[in-house]
Amino acid sequence: MKVYNYAAGPSMLAEEVKLEAQRDFLSYNNSGISVTEMSHRSKLYIEIHTEAEALLRELMDIGEDYYVLFLQGGASTQFEAVPLNLLSKGKADYVVTGNFASKAYKEAQKYGDIALTASSKDKNHTYIPNVDDLNFREDIDYVHITSNNTIFGTRYTKWPTPNAPLVCDMSSMILSEVVDVNRFGIIYAGAQKNIAPAGLTIVIVKKSLIGNPLPICPTMLRYSTQAEKGSLYNTPPCFDIYMAMLTFRRLKKLGGIAAIQKVNEYKAGLLYDFIDNSNFYKNPVVPADRSLMNVPFTTPTTELDAQFVSEATKNGLVALGGHRSVGGMRASIYNAMPVEGVNALIDFMKTFAHNNK
Ligand SMILES: *Cc1c(COP(=O)(O)O)cnc(C)c1O
Repeated sequence: MKVYNYAAGPSMLAEEVKLEAQRDFLSYNNSGISVTEMSHRSKLYIEIHTEAEALLRELMDIGEDYYVLFLQGGASTQFEAVPLNLLSKGKADYVVTGNFASKAYKEAQKYGDIALTASSKDKNHTYIPNVDDLNFREDIDYVHITSNNTIFGTRYTKWPTPNAPLVCDMSSMILSEVVDVNRFGIIYAGAQKNIAPAGLTIVIVKKSLIGNPLPICPTMLRYSTQAEKGSLYNTPPCFDIYMAMLTFRRLKKLGGIAAIQKVNEYKAGLLYDFIDNSNFYKNPVVPADRSLMNVPFTTPTTELDAQFVSEATKNGLVALGGHRSVGGMRASIYNAMPVEGVNALIDFMKTFAHNNK
């Protein structure tokens, strides 16, 4: 049976990426050794590391005024690294649009005067606050937002324009749509949603922002530490960076991010249209703020939700359970999910609704 994996993260990887990694697992490029056992200082590995960075720069059109860092610790470590590196004046503003945004806001509070500019908690995070109504304070070091809210299925379609660097957690939407990197001071993302296995964190940081960390900032969390060493200050997650390189090659071959975005809009459109036209399924998010990557939905009852997840699993449609904090279902349809996977889900949803009306 063909299995489609709708997990929110770690999530599915493209078949051709996994096949290539499998083919080269024992002997990379006929070297007789695996990427998993290569010195991170070896010529073979440095070629992978360099190509991965160059491809990411090309795909996202990242200028020379930014560093691209390959780090560890997940996006969650950036919840601390960002304030520790940027709070030189001691003030930052946060917009809280979900679980991860809230965690980032809480971590930052340990290190300075952190204000909550806006929150969507009043409506259980089913919308994105209007960015034109956000009032940021004067003299802040940065503003932090979360562009795609993985659990609640919302996404920014317009960026705030503060008089301070904009820092963005793009974990669950990086490389899914065209983004103008120049609008951001820092973009960070865990790789396990849209790029590679868990263990790699990508940080794109404006060069002018790395020179003034708080004195207590640990060496390993200083962007300058890794920036000066090309992300090779200590052992990087080599195999993960290799897998990321394979994903970047694939995205380039598919026509780049503009082409991927079209496919993502098409896939998400199929699913939302089906849900909106059914009188059985519901998606709670304000239509204009709906995520292209994570689509939460419910049936008429929690009992039917549980039955849906269990029957879907038996039919090869796995990991459709919603996050424990919201219940229901969630289909994560990242870059690697083919259109067929979305159609297979819709077909199953039709049958399930028909049988349980
Ligand atoms: C998954 C996720 C995180 C947490 O990432 P880790 O790599 O597990 O720390 C943070 N932010 C967003 C938006 C996420 O989707």
